[in-house]
Amino acid sequence: MNASMKAYNGVPVPEGELIQAGDGKFLVPDHPIIPFIEGDGTGPDIWRASQPVFDAAVTRAYGGRRGIRWYEVFAGGKAFERFGEWLPRDTVDALRQFRVAIKGPLTTPVGGGIRSLNVTLRIELDLYACVRPVKYYPGVPSPVKEPEAVDVVIYRENTEDVYAGIEFQQGTEQAAQLIAFLQDKFGKTVRPDSGIGIKPISITGSKRLVRQAIRHAIEQGRTVVTLVHKGNIQKFTEGAFRDWGYEVATQEFREQCVTEAELAQAPYHGKLPAGKILVNDRIADSMFQQLLLRPRDYQVVCTTNLNGDYLSDACAAQVGGLGMAPGANLSQEYALFEATHGTAPKYADKDVINPGSLLLSGVMMLNALGWKEAATLVESGLAATIRQKRVTYDLARQLPGSTQVKTSEFAQAIIANMDKSIG
Ligand code: NAP
Repeated sequence: MNASMKAYNGVPVPEGELIQAGDGKFLVPDHPIIPFIEGDGTGPDIWRASQPVFDAAVTRAYGGRRGIRWYEVFAGGKAFERFGEWLPRDTVDALRQFRVAIKGPLTTPVGGGIRSLNVTLRIELDLYACVRPVKYYPGVPSPVKEPEAVDVVIYRENTEDVYAGIEFQQGTEQAAQLIAFLQDKFGKTVRPDSGIGIKPISITGSKRLVRQAIRHAIEQGRTVVTLVHKGNIQKFTEGAFRDWGYEVATQEFREQCVTEAELAQAPYHGKLPAGKILVNDRIADSMFQQLLLRPRDYQVVCTTNLNGDYLSDACAAQVGGLGMAPGANLSQEYALFEATHGTAPKYADKDVINPGSLLLSGVMMLNALGWKEAATLVESGLAATIRQKRVTYDLARQLPGSTQVKTSEFAQAIIANMDKSIG
C-alpha cells in the first residue's frame, strides 16, 4: 500500500494504510498511518509517555487486528534544526495525505514576521473548527465547588475574526490610508494615532462551524447548542454569526432543532421534546458567568474565534487547568489533535510534566477513528490513576495525600490500570 508513497522530509513512510474521508466521516483501515509531531520543549516528554499508552489501549482492545502505524513529521525547533525551516512543505503535505494526525506543543518563533505554526497549520489545512471538550475527572484539584457540573464541548471558529491576520501598525502609511479611507468614504472617524485590525466574519465560516456543532450534538445525544457572540455591540460580525447560526438550525436541521424563542411558545410551552436539540444564544460576557454559575445548562458551545479562545481556557480552568484540556482542529476532511498547553520549556527533558492534555487529545483521536473501545481504555485508565492520587507535580502540589510521579510513571500507571480494568 505504501509503495507508491513518497518519503516526507526524507523519512520513509511505514507499512500501513491510508485513512480516507467521505461524507464528513473518516474511513479508517485497520492499520492507518498516523503522523505525529513531537513538538518543542516538553513535547518530547509527553509524546514519549503517551504513544505507549495509545498503543497499549489499541492492542488490548483489538489484539493484533488493529494497530496505528506512527509516522514522525517535523515542525518547530526540530524541523528548524534539521531542515532550516520551521514548517517544511513536506510536513503539511504529509498531514494532508494521511488526514488524521496528532501533535505536541510548538514554540512560536519570535520575530522575523513568522506566524504562529499552529495558526499556519490550521489555515494551510483549513481546519475550521477548534474543538475542546471540557469535563471533570474526579480527583483533579479545581477552584470551583462543583467541577463535575461542567461537561461542555466548545466549537470555536478557527480561521477568521481578528485572527485573520489583517492588521496595520500605528504610524504606517497603510494605517494612515485606511483611516483616511474610512473618513472619506464612510464618514467614520478613527483617531489618527491608531493601529487598525480587521475582523471578518463570513457566512461560509460561521455556517460550516455551526453545522459541525449541531451534527456533533445529534451524534452524541446532546440536547443544547448555544451560539455565543457579542452581537449587542458588533452587529454585523458577531450578531451576524448568531443569525447565520440560527439559519443553519432552522433551515438545515429543522427536524432536530427548536430555538429558544420557539420553545417558549406553542406547541412546546417551555418543554423540549425528547430527541430534540435546543438552540439558544448568549452574549459572550454573560456566558463567562453562566458557565460558572449554571454550568449544567450548557452542553455544546459554538462561537467565534476570539470568544472561543477566552472561553476554552476559562472553562478548562474550572475543571483543573490546561494540563488536562484536550483539543482538536477539524474540518470535514482533516483532523489534527493537539495538546492545548504550550511548550513549558523550563521542564523540557525532566520527565515531570503532565501528559494529560495530549493523552485526552489521543482519546478524541481514537473516538474520531471509531476505535471507541481503545478510547475508553485510555480515558478510564487515566481517570483511575488520578483517583489513586498518582499524579504529576502540577496536580500533586494542590492535592493533599497524593503521590507525585514522573510523566513516564503516570503513563505506566495508566497502562497498569487498563490491565486491571480488563481483569
Ligand atoms: P505554557 O508552555 O503552556 O506554560 C506555562 C505554564 O503552564 C508552565 O510553566 C506550567 O506552570 C503550566 N503548564 C503548561 N503545560 C503544562 C503541563 N502539561 N503540565 C503541567 N503544567 C503545565 O505557556 P507559555 O510559557 O506561555 O508558552 C511557552 C511556549 O509555548 C511559547 O513559545 C508559546 O508560543 C508556545 N505555545 C504553544 C501552544 C501550542 O502549540 N498549542 C499553545 C500555547 C503556547 P508552572 O510553571 O506553574 O508549573
